[in-house]
Amino acid sequence: MRRLTREEKFMRAAIKIAQKGLQEGEVPIGAVVVYEDKVVAKGYNRRAKLQLASAHAEMMAIDKACKKFNSWRLPEGCELYVTLEPCPMCMGASLNARVDKIYFGAYEQKGRSLTSALADANLLNHKTEVVGGVLQEECSALLSGFFISMRQKQKEEKERLKAAKEILDNSEEKDI
Ligand SMILES: [Zn+2]
Repeated sequence: MRRLTREEKFMRAAIKIAQKGLQEGEVPIGAVVVYEDKVVAKGYNRRAKLQLASAHAEMMAIDKACKKFNSWRLPEGCELYVTLEPCPMCMGASLNARVDKIYFGAYEQKGRSLTSALADANLLNHKTEVVGGVLQEECSALLSGFFISMRQKQKEEKERLKAAKEILDNSEEKDI
């Protein structure tokens, strides 16, 4: 087997934490913050569990990293790895925390992420370099697998309800 590149190694760590979310029924998205070649913080999407719009993987990982360094400004050289292209909120948080480089896996399919626009906007006098498509296939497969099984579950639930209704309708007819 081919050896993983440095970027792929850290993306694998993000995939691993995303899988934890998958087990908890969340849309599987994972993120890690890397400093001096070490993972210093991890996060995964927990929106369903926490019922918070801000509970994205990147926010979780960035918050943890800030806590770890006891500073809202992360030390120079911090990188963020995330399995899916960041949304504008997470790009904003990355810029605020002064993340230097963002690597993401799967591309946001509708192209509405504004990732490069925000990266280039020089908001806060800070630029963040963005590299997309690291282990893209694995990252995409993780997400599409989740949505396929979710749709399957919804379909089964619908059929179950339909069958239950038919039983009920039949029994009502008999009652008459
Ligand atoms: Zn986000």
